[in-house]
Amino acid sequence: MNKIITKLRKFILRYLIIKIRNRIMAEFTCEHCGMGVTGLTCAKCSAELVHDHITKDDGTQVGVAKCPNGCGMIKSPMCCGNDMSCSTSDSASE
Ligand SMILES: [Zn+2]
Ligand SMILES: [Zn+2]
Repeated sequence: MNKIITKLRKFILRYLIIKIRNRIMAEFTCEHCGMGVTGLTCAKCSAELVHDHITKDDGTQVGVAKCPNGCGMIKSPMCCGNDMSCSTSDSASE
């Protein structure tokens, strides 16, 4: 019985760590091949880039990774010809 509780605790702890980590750093994943990239940092202030969306003139949304300190932003990474999706939202599949 104790073993189960220990296992459960480990599982919850791991889940929380993943949650927290995802909230801190943006993790981009390719929906086609599963390629992932994480830990993008700003070269000027070395802060973790945060995921955001901007709306272009034609109304389409583009994922971007921007510096929380306002140094600037880059377009979110691409893989297999598509924007990589970001997993910082609460809709994590795990
Ligand atoms: Zn890919
Ligand atoms: Zn910066």
